Amino acid sequence: MHPFLGPDNSFYSFSSKNKPALTVEQGQEFILETQDCFSGQIKTENDRLDRLDWEHVNPATGPVFISGAMPGEIIGFDILHIKIGEDSRVVVAPGEGVPGEMIKQMETAIVHHKGNFLDFKGMAEIPINPMVGVMGVAPKEGNIPNGTPDRHGGNMDCKIITAGSRVYFQVEVEGALFGCGDLHSAQGDGEIGVSGAETSGQVRLKAAVYPRLKGLPTPFVETDSMVATICSAQTSDQAVTGAVNNMVEFLNRFAGLPVNHAVMLMSMAGNLCFCQMVDPLKTVRFEFPKSVLPVLHVLNG
Ligand code: CA
Ligand code: ZN
Repeated sequence: MHPFLGPDNSFYSFSSKNKPALTVEQGQEFILETQDCFSGQIKTENDRLDRLDWEHVNPATGPVFISGAMPGEIIGFDILHIKIGEDSRVVVAPGEGVPGEMIKQMETAIVHHKGNFLDFKGMAEIPINPMVGVMGVAPKEGNIPNGTPDRHGGNMDCKIITAGSRVYFQVEVEGALFGCGDLHSAQGDGEIGVSGAETSGQVRLKAAVYPRLKGLPTPFVETDSMVATICSAQTSDQAVTGAVNNMVEFLNRFAGLPVNHAVMLMSMAGNLCFCQMVDPLKTVRFEFPKSVLPVLHVLNG
């Protein structure tokens, strides 16, 4: 049996003041069960956004104290498996999301999971691609509400944060005080309508500290095929610059490329992607394929 935390251990802000609900060793697998981002408040299609108690949205399950994780170190969380709930919810509301001015009334849709697809009103099938919307570690100071993404992680809504990915953060307080929640059974880049296909579920993870990656520009994601920098900022332009600059810095410091060559490779083979454009800060990532640069494979392991 893996160490397990249920959604009764939820928090709504990442903070060094949160008391750990579970302690795990590095390399030890653990399971976090999470409610959806509405804390289960949307039960039918008649429950719309105006019915929500906004004090209780974006719950994260945790905090998990990782033994031996000390401030300044880089910690990586391997997402080993995501099990999503029975169905998902997607919402729209006037003023919410990128096209908010075009939306005249609130609406909630419950989408059913059918095999590998989401069934949208019997008229469209969307491939299921489970991902974790909120994931992070406690900041050194203050409380960061779970709805906000930043250096510590949080509500990044980044669709490559999925099973098989490793997500790196810089530890700010001993034990890291990790939590995650806000699972999506599917979400497009940008999450333009303010929600993905929001669902509950379980995430199986393990964590370790990576001394050789000290100074890594975080948050940082690694998959079998790519590395990616993530940056959240007030404007999408600032987030774009931050994510790109972080990848230049990574390729320079960790792959030994001169800045000019890093930029040339990124310009030819990298991809700039929007994670989400709808949260209090905007989140952008820059993806760079490992196949282009064999040295990047040394990150694995
Ligand atoms: Ca989210
Ligand atoms: Zn969500």
